[in-house]
Amino acid sequence: MSTSLFFGQKAETMLRRLLLYLSIAGWARSMMTQWGLARRVALRFVAGETLQEAINVTRDLNAKGLLVSLDYLGESVTRAEDTQEVVETYRAMIEQIHTNNLKASVSLKLTHLGLDISEDLCQTNLRHILSAAKTHQIPVTIDMESSAYTGTTLRIYRTMRDEHNFENVGTVIQAYLYRSKGDMQQLAAEGSHIRLCKGAYLEPPEVAFPEKSDVDKNYVELAQNYLQSASYLCIATHDENMIQAVESFIKAQNISQERYEFHMLYGIRSARQEELVAAGYKMRAYVPFGSAWYPYFMRRLAERPANLWFFTRALFRN
Ligand SMILES: Cc1cc2nc3c(=O)[nH]c(=O)nc-3n(C[C@H](O)[C@H](O)[C@H](O)COP(=O)(O)OP(=O)(O)OC[C@H]3O[C@@H](n4cnc5c(N)ncnc54)[C@H](O)[C@@H]3O)c2cc1C
Repeated sequence: MSTSLFFGQKAETMLRRLLLYLSIAGWARSMMTQWGLARRVALRFVAGETLQEAINVTRDLNAKGLLVSLDYLGESVTRAEDTQEVVETYRAMIEQIHTNNLKASVSLKLTHLGLDISEDLCQTNLRHILSAAKTHQIPVTIDMESSAYTGTTLRIYRTMRDEHNFENVGTVIQAYLYRSKGDMQQLAAEGSHIRLCKGAYLEPPEVAFPEKSDVDKNYVELAQNYLQSASYLCIATHDENMIQAVESFIKAQNISQERYEFHMLYGIRSARQEELVAAGYKMRAYVPFGSAWYPYFMRRLAERPANLWFFTRALFRN
C-alpha cells in the first residue's frame, strides 16, 4: 500500500518533515542510539558496524553482478582529531577493495572529513583519500549534504578535479534544489561524473521544490539533459517512474552503456537491483557501514514513512 494512500498526502509530508527534524536533533539521536531495537532495525539499511562486514556484503553483491559504492557512516564531525580515524578507515577500505579485487567505489561526506571545523582540514583529509584511491584507480564520489553545503561542496569538488588533477572524483546533484538545473548544465560542460538523486534533507521552499511532483519532473528533465551531454551520469533512485522514464529515454536516444549507470541504496528494492543487472545495466548499490547510523537511518524512514510500520512491527515482536 502506498504511504500517501494510508496517511493522506498532507499528513505524510508532515511526518516526513518531523522525521527529518529528528534526524538532526541531538536529544533524539542519544535516545535512539541507546536503544538496541532501533539499532537492529537500522541495520536493515546498513551492512554492519565494521569494515569487514561491509567487505563481506560487497563480495556477495559483486557475486550477484552488482557494483558497490562503500560509505563509512558519519557526518558533522566537530573535533579535528576525530577526522584522523575517518581518513584511516577510508584508506583501509581502499586497500581492502584493491587486495580483494572488489568491484567497488567509495562515497564520502565532507562534514565527516571536518568541513564544519575548517575547509583546509577537510581538503587535506580529502586529498589523502583521493590519492590512495587514485593509486588503485578507485572512483570516489563526494556525497551532497544539506543546501548550506552545496556551493562549498561543488567548489571543493572542482578544486580536487582541476587543481589537484584527481580524475577519479565525482559528486552528487539533488533534483529538489532550484539551482540544480544551472549546476548540471555547467557540470555537463566540464565533463563531470555526477550522481543525480532527488535530495534527502529538510530544505525550505526558498531553495527547494516543496512538492514531490515538481521534484520528480525536475529529476527526469535533469537526467535527460545530462544524458545528452558527453558526461557520465549515475541515476540514483528507487522510484520506478524515474527509472522507467530514464530507461525509455536511453533506449529512444540509443545512449551508450559507457555513459551511465543505475544506483540504489543497500537494503532498498534489492530484487529490482538484480533485475536491472539481469537486463544488462550497470547497477551500483550504495553500501553504508559503521556505528554512526542514526541520521542515515532517519533519512531512510523519512523517504518512506511506511517503513515506520516495519519498526512498529519489530517493537511488538519484542
Ligand atoms: C545511491 C544513492 C546515493 C544517494 N546520495 C545522496 C546524497 O549524496 N545526497 C542526498 O541528499 N541524497 C542522496 N540519496 C538519497 C536521495 O536523495 C533520496 O532521498 C532517496 O533516494 C529517495 O528518493 P527516490 O528517488 O528513491 O524516490 P522517492 O520518491 O523517495 O521514493 C520512490 C519509491 O521508492 C521506494 N523507496 C524510496 N525510499 C525507500 C526506502 N527508504 N525504503 C523503501 N522503499 C523506498 C518506494 O517504493 C517509494 O515509493 C542517495 C540515494 C541513492 C540511491
